[in-house]
Amino acid sequence: MIFLKTEDEIALMRKANLLVGSTLAEIGRAVRPGVTTKQLDKLADTFIRDHGAMPTFLGFPNPYGQPFPASICTSVNGQVVHGIPTDEPLKEGDIVSVDCGALLDGFNGDSCYTFCVGEISEEVRSFLATVKESLYKGIEAACAGHRVGDIGHAVQSHCEAAGYGVVREFVGHGIGREMHEDPMIPNYGRRGNGALLKNGMCIAIEPMITMGSREVMLQPDRWTVCTRDGSVAAHFEHTIAIHGGKPDILSSFDEIEQ
Ligand code: MG
Ligand code: MG
Repeated sequence: MIFLKTEDEIALMRKANLLVGSTLAEIGRAVRPGVTTKQLDKLADTFIRDHGAMPTFLGFPNPYGQPFPASICTSVNGQVVHGIPTDEPLKEGDIVSVDCGALLDGFNGDSCYTFCVGEISEEVRSFLATVKESLYKGIEAACAGHRVGDIGHAVQSHCEAAGYGVVREFVGHGIGREMHEDPMIPNYGRRGNGALLKNGMCIAIEPMITMGSREVMLQPDRWTVCTRDGSVAAHFEHTIAIHGGKPDILSSFDEIEQ
């Protein structure tokens, strides 16, 4: 069931999502060679709670009923999504996708950014730029009267044109009082297919893209998803509302990119 949000609810959604944006900016300021993803997790957990919100990922169950043990997902290099923070220090040239969720005043924020650790190769820099562009192309397609497939088509065509892989097993989603609501928002699709997009819908659009083959595998921890060929992966996510016929981005990378 798709829940359409009122203007007041969208305002609350924006608050939760801006808090997630500020949390990611805090993390961005801390990312450097030598820092561990567990340290980033602690920083995020403290920041979210200090702002009167709850980290939604902590304790969130996987399909095996295992609770996620941290407040952010940190997926390094060939890890695609749902990486668990560890004591291993980040190294120069790594990339780390940090996915963050917070529940504030009854509504959820959800956003993800892939950070560079020190200097990265030109090849990977170009890959990250393309994946981020595909997020905004997906968002542009999210107008009232369009369909979910228009979003997926926009993301997929942009990434595949550059020779990258579009992960099929994990998708974006509706969001509101629950972190995951209907409809699912795949990063692939055909124009004019899927659920109709309407004013009041809030959705998380989140391209999960690989530099090589799109095949992924679940690690024995039953959380971390890696590329099968070891190629690096990137993940960028915004939560948006459809509003006056147009996409309105509720989360923000502005503070991260300043
Ligand atoms: Mg997310
Ligand atoms: Mg999400």
